[in-house]
Amino acid sequence: MMIDRNIINNLKSFVESIDNEKKLAEEKNIFNKKHISPIYGQIKDKSPEEKKDFGQKINILKSEIDKIFDDQLNRIKEQYINSLRSKVDPLLDVSDSLIGGINPIEASINEINNFFKVLNFEIVSGTEISSAKYNFDNLNMDENHAARDEHDTFFINKNTILRTHCTSVSAKIIENNPNDEIKVISYGNVYRKDEDDATHSHQFNQVDIVWIRKDLNISNLKWLINNFLKYFFKNDNIKTRYRLSYFPFTEPSFEVDMSCFKCNGKGCNICKETGWIEVLGSGIFNPKVIYKANLNEDMIGLAAGIGIDRITMLKYGINDIRYLYNNDFRILSKFKGEK
Ligand SMILES: [Zn+2]
Repeated sequence: MMIDRNIINNLKSFVESIDNEKKLAEEKNIFNKKHISPIYGQIKDKSPEEKKDFGQKINILKSEIDKIFDDQLNRIKEQYINSLRSKVDPLLDVSDSLIGGINPIEASINEINNFFKVLNFEIVSGTEISSAKYNFDNLNMDENHAARDEHDTFFINKNTILRTHCTSVSAKIIENNPNDEIKVISYGNVYRKDEDDATHSHQFNQVDIVWIRKDLNISNLKWLINNFLKYFFKNDNIKTRYRLSYFPFTEPSFEVDMSCFKCNGKGCNICKETGWIEVLGSGIFNPKVIYKANLNEDMIGLAAGIGIDRITMLKYGINDIRYLYNNDFRILSKFKGEK
């Protein structure tokens, strides 16, 4: 016998007392080093005739030792599975479990997409990394424009940035379609170098709406925006007013106010007792934008940009933008989006 039978018997009862895989592997290693490796070492001293017989005996011994460890390994695994089974109770009452909801931002995006899909708009989200060409140059924001300042924009290098608005996606899509009607909305995260507070976030969501055709005018823009606001805020009485404003990429440009969806203009805490709420910016593409995109000069482009966070906060009565991003379940569960 190569190893005393007592050693094997002791090993067996010792191994059966081990209850985890790691320790089992360690002990196997220790045992093999101490008892099996020296036997292998004896092979070189055997005569060629003895070697075959000796080798066979080692193999038999080795299988016996391996089996002791393998059997225990299987027992450990089985015990683990059984312990898991005992933790799962298929009859458990789930009424107290946490059930997730759609983040209000996502709910708003779904609503926006639903509205524009019906009107045959293409819906894209584009890339969050943009070139200066599409984010600035093609939108009539030249080298000296304030928005190009490093204080306002996250630059990756001189020509590559994190998009500051989704209009960068629209600028790329409209390019080189000189005569085609284009209806597209682009939405998603945009980035500004703002300090985060209750109303500012360095990352927020926007949707950019573009409709290009030969014979469009401001009535088409108003029709589109008015109907969108009525749909989004679920109030057919919403009225709008258009105040002349300035954006580099539109001319004329308008800030759009809507009558308060909550009090219908009577005055409440949402509209700060004024009856009106500023909701979005819009306009008709500046001819320079049409030119830069290589479109025919008689094409008219309607454009509007909406802060999704802003209209979401209005709709759900959320007064701190950070609630939308901090993933605090206690807060989000109060503002669960619609399905
Ligand atoms: Zn109001």
